[in-house]
Amino acid sequence: MIPVTGYKGQRVGVLGLGRSGLATAQALSAGGAIPVCWDDNEAARDNATEFEIADLSRDKNWEGITTLIVSPGIPHLFPAPHPAVKIAWERGVVVDNDISLFFQSFAQPEWSMFDHEPKIVCITGSNGKSTTAALIAHILQSANRPVQLGGNFGTGALSLDPMIDNEVVILELSSYQLELARILSPDIAVFLNLSPDHLDRHAGLGGYFAAKARLFTTTAPDRAILGMDQPEGCYLENRMLQSGTPVIQIANRKLPGDGWQVYSRKGFLAERRKGRQLASIDLREMSGLPGSHNRQNACAAYAVCRSLGLAPKVIETGLQSYAGLRHRCQKVADIDGIAFVNDSKATNADSVGKSLKAFENIRWIAGGQKKEGGIAELTPLFGRIAKAYLIGEAAKDFSVTLGETPHEICETLENAVIAAKRDAQKGDTVLLAPACASFDQFDNFEARGTLFEKMVQE
Ligand code: ADP
Repeated sequence: MIPVTGYKGQRVGVLGLGRSGLATAQALSAGGAIPVCWDDNEAARDNATEFEIADLSRDKNWEGITTLIVSPGIPHLFPAPHPAVKIAWERGVVVDNDISLFFQSFAQPEWSMFDHEPKIVCITGSNGKSTTAALIAHILQSANRPVQLGGNFGTGALSLDPMIDNEVVILELSSYQLELARILSPDIAVFLNLSPDHLDRHAGLGGYFAAKARLFTTTAPDRAILGMDQPEGCYLENRMLQSGTPVIQIANRKLPGDGWQVYSRKGFLAERRKGRQLASIDLREMSGLPGSHNRQNACAAYAVCRSLGLAPKVIETGLQSYAGLRHRCQKVADIDGIAFVNDSKATNADSVGKSLKAFENIRWIAGGQKKEGGIAELTPLFGRIAKAYLIGEAAKDFSVTLGETPHEICETLENAVIAAKRDAQKGDTVLLAPACASFDQFDNFEARGTLFEKMVQE
């Protein structure tokens, strides 16, 4: 745990008592603060009985509270602020989050004794954050560099261990986390891509991008690694020119100019600097990185590792041995020539599009809790679908959008797996890529993917 500094003896409100909220209360307490905790859910409150619990939605409970730390799942502005946040705004109380507390507290006086100061690498983007973060961690581990991985993925930022000599801490950061954090000061910041998601929380695409851009504009990082396939990445590069931050451009094509570039083309990753090619790596047979979208992740991970001083050959060895992450375009079985792929994390149309491009003769299992925009943008890829098997709340809407593309409404994931297996022929791929959140039928996307895997094994 990283004890939070700067609040000794102060009462600090903690709103939301899930994984990150509980860790925040513990880290505040370890640093001498008095956390005053609340969660609208009684079961969550029952997990936090070691702390003072007070309903922060009532003004009378705010005496002496100077700061409110809000969990990422709780709206602080759009579509409407949580009542407790509203009180904080009205009282002029500082509203912040655990990521900010991490940046405020991670540096220790002992660091002056280190030969190599630890580095913080932060990754954002709409899709590929977890994969890229895990890939960087894997490459560094295989090169024997001390690493910790956390943030939005795995361990909460404040639950990480205090850092050691030469360590790299990799934080995956979502737009929810970036929007609220007052302090963001990474050494290396990565922007992968942008596609519409979470629009209700950010009042539209502009607000969503503005939240992500804060990783680069709050404090200029020492190095920015930017996805240049989209105008948003180019915009950020421009901002970095203003702050003097060196940029490594990543793209799926060779870019004009003599800048430092890492790009993928025809399945190969290339590094160019000052107009010269420094390295080329064949990504085509790397089983942990299927699909063109993973080439972007590989380029980003390569650029981070180069920034940290690793040689191209060392990075190549790490890329080769990467096994992939569960629930992300993960082949879980091959039964009688039929591939079963779990992409439960494909919760938006953009990530599903990447999966639909990666496979052929697809038996597509889709649906769940609806997202704005639906699957209309996937229409050009419908020809790749042998048949769709629709589940959850979004099934009827998806059925309308699919039109003439063969499909059936299966209601549940169990029915869908059985129906897809019944219809599938040798050479087909049964793909769970829902284009929806899972919360109408599951606790989270992991539970949905795990049920898919279980059904396939059975
Ligand atoms: P995130 O942490 O940003 O949600 P993940 O690595 O968990 O990203 O992947 C989420 C989904 O996006 C998966 O379906 C995955 O196959 C897909 N995906 C991964 N990398 C990319 C990328 N660079 N571009 C688009 N989609 C991607």
